[in-house]
This record gives sequence, C-alpha cells and structure tokens, in this order.
Amino acid sequence: EAKAMGANHACIFQPEMLQRLQEKKAFEADLQVAMQNNEMEVYYQPQVMADTGEICGYEALLRWTHPVRGMVSPAEFIPVAERIGMIVTLGEWVLRQACMEAASWTKPLTIAVNLSPVQFRHIDLISSVEAVLKETGLDPHRLELEITESVLLDDNQHTLELLQALKRLGIKITMDDFGTGYSSLANMSAFPYDKIKIDRSFISQLVGRADIQAIVGFIIGVGRTLGMVTIAEGVETEEQYAQLKLLGCDQLQGFLLGCPAPASQLQALHGDSSVHSAQSEQPQSICH
Ligand code: C2E
Ligand code: MG
Ligand code: MG
Ligand code: MG
Repeated sequence: EAKAMGANHACIFQPEMLQRLQEKKAFEADLQVAMQNNEMEVYYQPQVMADTGEICGYEALLRWTHPVRGMVSPAEFIPVAERIGMIVTLGEWVLRQACMEAASWTKPLTIAVNLSPVQFRHIDLISSVEAVLKETGLDPHRLELEITESVLLDDNQHTLELLQALKRLGIKITMDDFGTGYSSLANMSAFPYDKIKIDRSFISQLVGRADIQAIVGFIIGVGRTLGMVTIAEGVETEEQYAQLKLLGCDQLQGFLLGCPAPASQLQALHGDSSVHSAQSEQPQSICH
C-alpha cells in the first residue's frame, strides 16, 4: 500500500509515472508527423440495403499504420488527436480524401464521414465542408456526416443552427451509435437527422432477446415516422441480418456485409474489372 509507505511513496512510483508520461509524449509526437509521413489511410466499409443486399454507400474509417507498433485503432488515436488539437486538420484530410474518392466512383453511392465533436465545435466547420465539396466536385447529397450524441450536449440553439447550416449545403446528417447517449429520444425530434445508426451494443444482443428486439423495433418505428433512414452497425451474423430485416431496418453495416478496405480494393467502383481483388480471398473474420 503506497500510503503506508508514507512520504516516500511519490519517489517509489516516480520512474513508472515518468515512463508513462514519456510514452504518452512519444505517441503524441508520432501522431503529429503521421500525416506527412503518409502513415494515414482512409478505409471504406460498405453499407447495404437490407431488402436487396445491394451496396448503397460506404463509411470512411481512418487507419494509422505506426512505423513500429503497426496498425493503431482510431478508438485509441482519435481521442489523442482531439486532445492535442490535431483532429481538425486530420478530420478535414479524411473528409477531402473520402469526397475525392467518392467523386471518382462509377456509381453515385453515398459516403459517410465521421465528425469529431471538436471539429463540430470548430469555427471553420461550415466553410471547410463547403470548400471540400467545391474542390472535389462531389454532389453534396451523397455526403453524410456522422455525429454522436455528445455533440448535442452543449448549446442546443447553436447546435441546431450548425446542423441547419450543414443541411443547407445539401449534405445529410447521421446520428452515430444511436441509443447510447443520455437523451436519444428527445434528440430525435429536436434535431434534423436524416439517418439513425443503431449502436452495435444493441445488435450484438439482438438474437434471442425479446427486450432488445422491442427496443430496436421501436427505434426503427420512430425513425420511420420521422422520415429518417435507419441503419444497424456491427452486423456480424446471418441471424442478426434476418432479425433486422424482420424489424424493418433499412440498411446494414458490419463484418458480415464487408470489411473496411482501402480504396484500391473497391475495384467495382473504379470501372476497371480487370483489377484483381485481394479482398474476396480473405475470410471476413480478419477485418481490420
Ligand atoms: P464508428 O464510427 O462507430 O465506426 C464503426 C466501427 O465499428 C469501426 O471501427 C468499424 O471498423 C467497426 N465495425 C464495423 N463493422 C463491425 C462489426 O461487424 N463488428 C465489430 N465488432 N466492429 C465493426 P474503427 O474503424 O476501429 O473506428 C472506431 C471509431 O473511431 C469509429 O466508430 C469512430 O468513432 C472513430 N473514427 C474512425 N475514423 C474516424 C475519422 O475519420 N474521424 C473521426 N472523428 N472518428 C473516426
Ligand atoms: Mg461512424
Ligand atoms: Mg458507429
Ligand atoms: Mg460505434
């Protein structure tokens, strides 16, 4: 027990704390140079229509390959990028990459891009999105920005105005990870979402659970009444797919339907059927 050791305990723990601080600083420094070192890449995961299984769009998911540690999860580095103020630059880069990529596709599929709450609060958000759309020539109707409910906790009036300004650009707003926040239902009528993405935690418990099925069915029903598209994330099994179809969910996303993959593997969208697909040979259990 540190306390029992009296005044010396700070000394005893210092080397370990120092090492952790140094690791943290090194991680931040590596992240700072990751973009210019070409270690960042945008992957794309398909979203499919539940009734036909047809791909209707992709979600852009950022990947960082660290020179020593290999692939680092965005769940780990996005919060760091937010803390060190780098997310605005990084997020705009993702948006530009994703819009450029989508604009090159042979089919007018949608492209969903995640927006950090820090980006959302940034003063230049509207003009930066506008500039990217103009630069890339992407039809704004094909762009969906995914926000989380934490965005809505701050200043409701300001948030509403921002969302309306984004929608005036012609783009769509998706509520990501729906159902995990504090005031999901109130938010559904207060803010103009176009699409609700039902959180993976519901989908993973769906099969054989009447209570979860009732909740998911309820979300889908309210979504439909309010004219919103519903999509389920984290669909991994045929049983989940069948259940969601039964409940009337519009779209599905998950390892069952397709792994996140680099742009070079979306060959069907580049009008070049001669490109060999490495993805089709991979079992989907090894999604990255
Ligand atoms: P998210 O936006 O909710 O993205 C879905 C996450 O679930 C992705 O993790 C995706 O790879 C993973 N996933 C997809 N299908 C399945 C499945 O069937 N089963 C399971 N277990 N997982 C599945 P990823 O790519 O690691 O991203 C994690 C989170 O990091 C994202 O959650 C998003 O919040 C954030 N993120 C990723 N890219 C960006 C970005 O460009 N900007 C911002 N601000 N955040 C990002
Ligand atoms: Mg998302
Ligand atoms: Mg999500
Ligand atoms: Mg999620």
